[in-house]
Amino acid sequence: MKLSATHSSATGSTQVPGQKPRVVIIGCGFGGLEAAKALSGADVEIIVIDRTNHHLFQPLLYQVATAGLHAPAIAGPIRHILREQIARGNMTVLMGEVTTIDAASHCIVLDGGEHVHYDHLILAAGATHSYFGRDDWAKYAPGLKTLGDAFTIRRRVLTAFEQAERELDPAKREPWLTFAVVGAGPTGVEMAGTMAEIAQHTLSAEFRRIDSRGARVILLEGAPRVLGTFTEDLSQRAREQLEMLGAEVLTGAKVTNITAFGIHYDLNEIAPDGSTRATSHFLPCRTVIWAAGVAASPLGRALAKSTGCELDRAGRVIVQPDLSIAGHPNIYVVGDLASAKSYLKPDQPTPVPGVSPGAKQMGRKAAFNIMRRMKGLETQAFRYFDYGSLATIGKRAAVAMIDVPFLNKRFKFSGFSAWLFWLFVHVYFLIGFRNRMVVLVDWAWAYFTSQRHARVFPDPHALEPNAMLVRVTPPPEPPVSVTAATPSVPAPSGSSGTAGASVRPGPAGGAAPSPAG
Ligand SMILES: Cc1cc2nc3c(=O)[nH]c(=O)nc-3n(C[C@H](O)[C@H](O)[C@H](O)COP(=O)(O)OP(=O)(O)OC[C@H]3O[C@@H](n4cnc5c(N)ncnc54)[C@H](O)[C@@H]3O)c2cc1C
Repeated sequence: MKLSATHSSATGSTQVPGQKPRVVIIGCGFGGLEAAKALSGADVEIIVIDRTNHHLFQPLLYQVATAGLHAPAIAGPIRHILREQIARGNMTVLMGEVTTIDAASHCIVLDGGEHVHYDHLILAAGATHSYFGRDDWAKYAPGLKTLGDAFTIRRRVLTAFEQAERELDPAKREPWLTFAVVGAGPTGVEMAGTMAEIAQHTLSAEFRRIDSRGARVILLEGAPRVLGTFTEDLSQRAREQLEMLGAEVLTGAKVTNITAFGIHYDLNEIAPDGSTRATSHFLPCRTVIWAAGVAASPLGRALAKSTGCELDRAGRVIVQPDLSIAGHPNIYVVGDLASAKSYLKPDQPTPVPGVSPGAKQMGRKAAFNIMRRMKGLETQAFRYFDYGSLATIGKRAAVAMIDVPFLNKRFKFSGFSAWLFWLFVHVYFLIGFRNRMVVLVDWAWAYFTSQRHARVFPDPHALEPNAMLVRVTPPPEPPVSVTAATPSVPAPSGSSGTAGASVRPGPAGGAAPSPAG
């Protein structure tokens, strides 16, 4: 089905006389939603397409994964958020996955085969996980990007404690009570700190055969320190706070393989003579969380195929200063899918980080440039305003690096004050008054009781590898502890994410056994 006639100009306007120009926005995350709002007063027809029915506030996704918040507190139906624009009559919201972009005929194709024509296109499809070429690890080590991922992680973490309670053999019980997080960027740090809290406080009085406080939460990071984008002193503070909460931190640890039984990794250590030595280790554990790599949405490749636009090593689309792509002034790419530069200082452009303020500012700028182009005006270069970085670690534990441009000053702080600041900022940016209230009440409850109330999950017989493993007795995998004087292995290229643990592929033949045994 064609939703509109297509037009054949390669780059110029394809607008049908007498009809409003049509702007199609792919993706209603931070970038897409901001673009849709910015265009709401413009004399255009807008079509917003997303493969889900909701806008997701990803910065609080780890709270859903760790049973602190329910999904509706951090996600809202797109058509409800945009209901005023829809009621005005110039906006349509479609739920569907965009599979193809046909720039020559100015249309995109949805999963059902429908063609949707555009005069201007804003591509805001975000990013996905990268396993650095080892996609076979995904089934053992889920990443955290969508609500589905958060539900999977929550079920696996809580199921692991249940399996431990059922297991009578202490040697077999231990891997159920060992939790590994790969990658110590903000997401990995949040996950490790919160999982340690769950073991130490939330569950401590609820089991009879096991003592949840004996569970180990291990954070593995390939780089020499956690939170590599923060300053060294804040990294060190984050590490100390993690350890105080009960997590173990292994830096210089390069993961070489992940199986149903645990993680193989090389640990880099500096020998007394200054050389780097790598020792190989095996950590038996049944629950692994992947927070190490981010890759651009596959729609970046689809766009490159159709337009010949350039991609960077992480698959992000390299955009022009005004966020359009070379040779196609009516196609804009924003947010995590864009490899964009900020022209605050026009002679010294700087890369824009993959964070929500970057996506929102780009979404607004793309909308603004479309409106300028329609008026026959020149488009403007993108300027990113960076106000700093925050990362939470757990209750009363966080680090903050806040830039105040007009004072030309950076404020750094950690601990309780940083945690309060983090809390305020995240509640402030949540969409909807009800969500803000719900989150505040839930957090206040959790603060005073250490309880996490979103611990119910559906059907315990869900087809999850680790839920099924209780039915089989896996052959014990002997711990490896080989010491070898090898040079340190550089991290693979292509990681653009904030949680950048260095990882290299495992040895040949190290395929994971089937969970079905
Ligand atoms: C766990 C986690 C924690 C984070 N924490 C922080 C934080 O604390 N602070 C911060 O600033 N940033 C944080 N980020 C990063 C921030 O969320 C991203 O930078 C931001 O979401 C990027 O916005 P976007 O619009 O490019 O993509 P997204 O917000 O990811 O939106 C992309 C949208 O496109 C849709 N989509 C994708 N492919 C298709 C398709 N083919 N067809 C139709 N629709 C499609 C998706 O469903 C989604 O709705 C975090 C990210 C994660 C994953």
